[in-house]
Amino acid sequence: MEIKKIFEESSRYIMNTYNRFPVILRKGRGMKVWSSDGKEYLDFVGGVAVNILGHCHPRVVVAIQKQAQRLIHVSNYYYIEPQIELAKLLVEHSFADKVFFCNSGAEANEAAIKLARKYSKEQISPECFEIIAAKNSFHGRTLAALTATGQERFQTGFEPLVPGFKHVPFNDTDAIRKVATKNTCAIMLEPIQGEGGVKLPDQTYLKEVRELCNENNILLILDEVQTGMGRTGTFFAYEHFGITPDIMTIAKGLGGGVPIGAMLAIDKVASAFQPSTHATTFGGNPLVCAAAVSTIETILEDGLILDQCNRMGIYLRERLEQLKGEFPGIIAEVRGKGLLVGMELTRDGDSIVRACLEKGVLINCTAGNVLRFIPPLIVQQKDIDRLIDVLERVFEKLP
Ligand code: PLP
Repeated sequence: MEIKKIFEESSRYIMNTYNRFPVILRKGRGMKVWSSDGKEYLDFVGGVAVNILGHCHPRVVVAIQKQAQRLIHVSNYYYIEPQIELAKLLVEHSFADKVFFCNSGAEANEAAIKLARKYSKEQISPECFEIIAAKNSFHGRTLAALTATGQERFQTGFEPLVPGFKHVPFNDTDAIRKVATKNTCAIMLEPIQGEGGVKLPDQTYLKEVRELCNENNILLILDEVQTGMGRTGTFFAYEHFGITPDIMTIAKGLGGGVPIGAMLAIDKVASAFQPSTHATTFGGNPLVCAAAVSTIETILEDGLILDQCNRMGIYLRERLEQLKGEFPGIIAEVRGKGLLVGMELTRDGDSIVRACLEKGVLINCTAGNVLRFIPPLIVQQKDIDRLIDVLERVFEKLP
């Protein structure tokens, strides 16, 4: 189809929920994607932190092909072997005892909110259902996840929101203490705020929150939808902070590109879910679970990919810092952990994203002025050098 016609048909048939760049991506391998006109792009967006092993990783492709030939979908009325295998892998490599599978990050958070409420209402008191979340957070677009999201701009127009949520500044334990009551059932946080502009807490914050939760019988829910699966250099980001949550949500990188989410919990809390209390038709189906098993096995094998993530994360931040030295009027701060890296600008980042796209490099801007780099964990030094070269050329031309 001619490019103009594709754009026309897209706007005729698809709801207008995305501001899209005028590029049709058709093929991907590793760090690269190619558009319909054959142009090559280096991908530092990686499907917004989804393509954790790069595009069409051979092991994931083979796992999907094999599973597609055997069994694509069956209901959760029956036992599903790849689902059990995946749950076992996740439990063996995390704090959790049990897993619930779903299809996205928002759904994983809905499940976490429901589990926390069910557990606390049954075990503590019927009024114990309030959740404290952070300002500037992002937890997804379904109604309860949207209510947990501490950014009004995503909520406007969808009121009334779900009752029972309070928001406090991120990285401020005293603020939590001030609003917590006997009816607080959970504190829900991203270990590092991703969509909110790659905001890292102080090293002691999550430890303090964990202690506060322990002292007051409050559950700690960590949303690792963006930070999980090795993104920050450890398999899960909570490992950096020396704590474990009671409930954790993951999605994005979990399936190496296929849509899958999961909510993990300790046994005591997980047992609040019984048959018929929560469910989803597609959650944990054979195809996506087979993809996720191969993704996790590849990430964890020999620790090579996590090691690469740490080394490349350091290199990327060093190179961005150098750039900051060159352009102090444009770049305010470089921050991040592993390969979740943000560069805060003193101006809007949109035109810079567009200029990079023209030069064949895909990057993302979040929170208006934070360029976010979330490449596949297989990114190499030469890819980072190319990114820096392109950014340098774009910055040189800025007024
Ligand atoms: N939680 C976090 C931390 C996220 O970054 C996102 C998406 O960006 C979500 C939840 C929502 O995930 P999904 O878009 O898969 O529903």
